[in-house]
Amino acid sequence: MLEKEFVLSKTEFVAFLKCPFQFYLLKELYKPTNQKRRNNYSDYEQFLQDGLDNHLWLQNFYKNFSVDIKSNIDPLLKLPDEADYWKRNFVNFEVKRYKEKNDFWEPVAVEFYLCNDSFCGTIDRIDLLNELGDCRIVEYKSYPSEFDEEELLFYTVLLTNHLPIIDVPNITKVTEFGIYYYKINEFYKAKVTPEIINTFEEYLEKLRTEMLDPSFIKKKKTCDFTNSRCLYREICKRIHIKHQKIFGHSKT
Ligand code: SF4
Repeated sequence: MLEKEFVLSKTEFVAFLKCPFQFYLLKELYKPTNQKRRNNYSDYEQFLQDGLDNHLWLQNFYKNFSVDIKSNIDPLLKLPDEADYWKRNFVNFEVKRYKEKNDFWEPVAVEFYLCNDSFCGTIDRIDLLNELGDCRIVEYKSYPSEFDEEELLFYTVLLTNHLPIIDVPNITKVTEFGIYYYKINEFYKAKVTPEIINTFEEYLEKLRTEMLDPSFIKKKKTCDFTNSRCLYREICKRIHIKHQKIFGHSKT
């Protein structure tokens, strides 16, 4: 059971949308470290570790290459990075973006962690859009997935609720969000209005209340425990078998 004051992270929110049972397992398994950020991911499956490495490269991109790009020098990638086709695509994409509009090109924040009494998460990148302080939230993902827009709206609400922020004083409101799919070199962006932000915040608050209700602890109907993208499939399968035995549905 969740405590009434629980903090909902972006990862947990998306887990709930994918499968409510995954969300409750995630909450239970990481209870002791729930409020702390991990810094060791060696127990993660390979595809997750690769994703973290890719994010780290993207996170350090401006630190490593913005001087070159601003000096019109084509950034030189390390040899192993050249082998990753998508890294060269990202360099070209950013060089083009800089040439098209060089003011406000460099992000005002990367890997920006925020947490309040209700929600927390780390925003991949924040771009300032103009002198008025309008900003855009940017997420990096390998490929499109089902709940990308919900994820961006989650971060939009989170950042909006924190403004103004001492560390990033020149941003005043979130007016746009975007997502860069680095494996297919596509950038999707959209405007976001205060009405959309308010409506989504109300939805999040309602969802947070519903999560406290035990009747929401249910498995995804279509899942047969073979979903390789679900880290909890083994433990979930065992819980399922145990319940089958309790109710006499299994002979083993
Ligand atoms: S294995 Fe299936 S039912 Fe279990 S947590 Fe994962 S997605 Fe949900």
